[in-house]
Amino acid sequence: MQGAITKSTGQSPAKKTYAQAVTSTATATSAATTTTAGTTTKKKRLEPKPQAISKVVLTAENTPTIVTIDGKAVRDQFNKALNGNVVARVEISKRNNIVITTTKFYTADQFLEVQNEWWPVVQENWPEIQKAEKPTTWNKLVVHGIPVEEASDGFEKFKTECKEYNKIQVIGKSRWLIPPSEDQKKASIVFSVESEQEKKACLKNGLDILGIGLKVVNYRPYSTTTQCNRCQSFGHNPTTCRLTIACRLCAKPHYTKQHYCKECKKHGECNHLVAKCANCSQNHLADHPHCEAVKAVGLSY
Ligand SMILES: [Zn+2]
Ligand SMILES: [Zn+2]
Ligand SMILES: [Zn+2]
Ligand SMILES: [Zn+2]
Repeated sequence: MQGAITKSTGQSPAKKTYAQAVTSTATATSAATTTTAGTTTKKKRLEPKPQAISKVVLTAENTPTIVTIDGKAVRDQFNKALNGNVVARVEISKRNNIVITTTKFYTADQFLEVQNEWWPVVQENWPEIQKAEKPTTWNKLVVHGIPVEEASDGFEKFKTECKEYNKIQVIGKSRWLIPPSEDQKKASIVFSVESEQEKKACLKNGLDILGIGLKVVNYRPYSTTTQCNRCQSFGHNPTTCRLTIACRLCAKPHYTKQHYCKECKKHGECNHLVAKCANCSQNHLADHPHCEAVKAVGLSY
């Protein structure tokens, strides 16, 4: 659990209450707009900024095994710890992470600022959780043309160049869009930035990395030829798919990885498999190259 909790580095020995923390933020923000600095002002309801993020994701090193949450009970625990209606919802995401959504009066930043106040609730309910952070998927980008040999350091140089030459703070883990082959000179990196402004700046100006001007585009987790691993159809984002689940092997309503042969007593393909395609109902696998649905989207294997 080392380095698990990023406690705010507030030096004050007395713990700030949530109300105090919010008030100090409120004062700081309003100070920018008001010219007269009043002594003590009335507590203002904070209006969220238009692009303010209201979600915080709780993650563990290994995928958490949490399957159910009593949303209301946990919400109440958080709000009791914070002495106010700060948390609106607590839910489990598709990736099995816990997602906390704040009420419209508070932003994710404000919630994270007082993490020490509500962290005990997390520890009590889900001891395996190690981190709380804002979701990074919204600001995912792709930069093309990165010299492969310069990125062998786990993208540290890329990160530094983003910061020093572009004033862009790369957050989370960067990765190759497609892992480059051995003789490949240039490749694309998927990376995340924290703010909407940084994202816009990247898209507009590109990035100056290692003395080269590089193009940046939005990251798309799918294309027209992406076959959804949940429902086996094409062209939509599998992570948000709400269509009926279909097995790639037998078309029955279970995930492919759950496909099980009772005779072999094992998962996956075996000689007993009667293949059925979820798209065309023929007796082949859903990603068979001869399938009319596969051919229709222009997928060639
Ligand atoms: Zn789907
Ligand atoms: Zn199956
Ligand atoms: Zn079998
Ligand atoms: Zn088919």
